[in-house]
Amino acid sequence: MQLHSIFDASPNAYMVLDRELRFVAANEAYLRVTASRLEDLIGRVIFEVFPHDPEDPDNDNARLLRASLERTLRSKRRDHLALIRYRVPRETPNGVVVAERFWSATHTPILDERGEVAYVLQHTSDVTELERLRAAARDATGERQHQLEADVLARASAVQDTNSALEAERRRMQQLFRQAPGFMCVLGGPDHVFELANQAYLELVGARDVIGRPVREALPEVAEQGFIELLDRVRKSGEPFVGRAIPVALERGGHVETRYLDFVYQPVIEADGTTSGLFVQGHDVTEERRARDEVARYRDHLEDLVAERTRALEQSESALRHAQKMEAVGSLTGGVAHDFNNLLQVIAGNLALIAPDVAGDPQATRRLREATSAVERGAKLSSQLLAFARRQELDPEVVELDRLTRDVEPLLRRAVGEQIEIARDVEPGLWRTFVDRNQLDNVLLNLAINARDAMNGAGRLVIAARNVTLDAERAARHPEATAGDHVLLSVSDTGCGMTREVIERAFEPFFTTKGEGRGTGLGLSMVYGFVRQTGGHVAITSEPGRGTTIEVYLPRTHRVADADTEATAAGARGGSETILVLEDDVAVRATVVDLLRDLGYRVIEADSGASAMAILESGAAIDLLFVDVVVPGALRSHEIAARAEAARPELAVLFTSGYSEDAVAHEALLGRRARLLRKPYSRDELARRVREVLDARARSCDAAVSSMRVLIVEDDDDSRELAGEMLSALGHDVQIAASGAQAREALQRARFDVLFTDVGLPDVSGVELARGAMRDDAHMGVVLASGYGESARSADDTELARAVVLEKPYLPAQLESALRAAARPRS
Ligand code: ADP
Ligand code: MG
Repeated sequence: MQLHSIFDASPNAYMVLDRELRFVAANEAYLRVTASRLEDLIGRVIFEVFPHDPEDPDNDNARLLRASLERTLRSKRRDHLALIRYRVPRETPNGVVVAERFWSATHTPILDERGEVAYVLQHTSDVTELERLRAAARDATGERQHQLEADVLARASAVQDTNSALEAERRRMQQLFRQAPGFMCVLGGPDHVFELANQAYLELVGARDVIGRPVREALPEVAEQGFIELLDRVRKSGEPFVGRAIPVALERGGHVETRYLDFVYQPVIEADGTTSGLFVQGHDVTEERRARDEVARYRDHLEDLVAERTRALEQSESALRHAQKMEAVGSLTGGVAHDFNNLLQVIAGNLALIAPDVAGDPQATRRLREATSAVERGAKLSSQLLAFARRQELDPEVVELDRLTRDVEPLLRRAVGEQIEIARDVEPGLWRTFVDRNQLDNVLLNLAINARDAMNGAGRLVIAARNVTLDAERAARHPEATAGDHVLLSVSDTGCGMTREVIERAFEPFFTTKGEGRGTGLGLSMVYGFVRQTGGHVAITSEPGRGTTIEVYLPRTHRVADADTEATAAGARGGSETILVLEDDVAVRATVVDLLRDLGYRVIEADSGASAMAILESGAAIDLLFVDVVVPGALRSHEIAARAEAARPELAVLFTSGYSEDAVAHEALLGRRARLLRKPYSRDELARRVREVLDARARSCDAAVSSMRVLIVEDDDDSRELAGEMLSALGHDVQIAASGAQAREALQRARFDVLFTDVGLPDVSGVELARGAMRDDAHMGVVLASGYGESARSADDTELARAVVLEKPYLPAQLESALRAAARPRS
């Protein structure tokens, strides 16, 4: 603010005289009390302007005034003029009149740089009213005089109060300006020189020393950003400028920082309409702006989150629907397989019973064989359905996937063909799983065959395994998944991929996109059912044209490897029994014969069914028949086995298979305890399985009695009669029961060697019935016949551990061996 503004703002009258007592300046208050115009005063001597007073003949008052001024000039000290009477022009409602007034004045010397008086500042107060009161008081007497004096004092103190109030107000205004939360400054003149700046402004510009300096010089970076031009424009136009959240780069504490400012440039307009300066006032809104930006950021993020949650929810719902659908299809399939198995059992049993009657009739024998092979195909189908329905009898063991995937690789190689590259990618330190090894082989084979089909015979197949821990969130998203440690086995291909629709339905039994006769639609159903039954789950990741990955999650087990595996690790155990090897492939036969001889066995070789039968019928003391599932010639391997077993009940049989489709059918036909050794096998595996089969046979031979008392419990009439007939034909003493209640009655009345019961009875579970019977009679053998493939007993069921499970459909020879395996010697 320029000095004259303050000067003019004061309610007190001021004027400045030079050494010749000519007017140099006068403020507005002075002009007001003297009813003068500035241009009439400036440059003129004071006594010219206010001339001789005719009513003061001696001109005493003018002399007093002159004396005081001269004293001031001379002494260079402030001089007080208590009271003079002086006539000055005065504004009245009737115009300007010259009137007598009383004045009190102070003269203050203003020194130049040499210390000489350059000017005299006069401060004048109009004390006319006070003087009049005093005169009145002088003339009055007594009480009246007292009263007047009191009045004078009161007026004087009132004037003093007003003055100090004004001063307080000025201070307060200054304080407010200084402390105002918004930034403020006043720029004067065309160069925009800082005249005033408050605390907030100084903070904004990094506490730079701006007062008295033009903006261009004080804040050069601001000048560069075009603000000087803006100030010029406001000054020129007289129109204020209002800016909102304007970014301004400011140097603060040694670095440049962008602040966002709301501000106004307000022109300061003088009485004559000219713009003397600019008032700048505003707020730093950087933080608000940042907060707002952040909110907008945050809002977008929130929207993403909500969208993601919604997606996840939809996914979960569709996964749940899918799981429910699979569940429903599963129980339907299980039911169908159950009925189907009972039918097959009746057919197979009757065919077996007819066989001796038509032995001499080649035509009838051929038809019988065809019918039997149709039963086999049916059995294979129903075993796949049971697998899907999660009702196959599993034989889980501790499995290390590193080894399993390595062992199965040659097999997969054969299955997919040379054009497909196979890579194994198995993480070291894999956790163990508790799973049916043979079924898991099946899973890999099914997946590899699907990959081969999808890749049209050429491409890349990756079998990977790694440890994963599924969290609760994942488990929540996948109704089939359980949280916890898993081993993830995955099979990826570079094939055609699947559409969403195909993925949706791929696990359904009989769903296939392959042509008639090329696909059964049962591969993935088996994978699904088996993995679910094992406590894991399966996931498909695929897109058309981008290949497929099937992920199989198997729960981790903390069990240690089975004793078998340990024995294997410790070294293969051999024996001295005699083994008949039936194998048509010369190289394979030579190898296995060498291996077995190496283990200490006596080995006899046969290259066809006919020669094997000839050897068996010759009466040679054979302990074990080791036979390939696929043998050339009229006789099928299992027929050879059945005949051999019938003829020599003490004979053990071990099948081996190159893992053709026949192996699966074979297995279905022989039940879960299929004595089957899959090719390729290691020396240890061969040794282990041979020993296992021989030892089991030795045990059941010990237990064998030529004729047993058997209680058959079966609700299905056909099946019951058939079983009865078969067992009677085998020379056993048979009694039958159609329900659990009947069976209990029978058990109370008589003692049996073996309880042969169906698992699914109408009134009580066959498993419960068996448990009770075994508790009552520790020597009772139990065979659980299962057409439903339901888990007849759990892996940990010690009470039922010695029960034998026989899956329908079964052949007479299988029934017989099951009875023998179940029977316990009574000593
Ligand atoms: P099948 O192989 O007999 O058709 P599956 O149950 O094994 O039956 O598979 C069902 C369907 O899933 C297949 O017909 C095919 O459409 C699809 N599918 C399975 N595996 C793959 C794969 N690796 N790549 C592309 N599609 C596949
Ligand atoms: Mg398939």
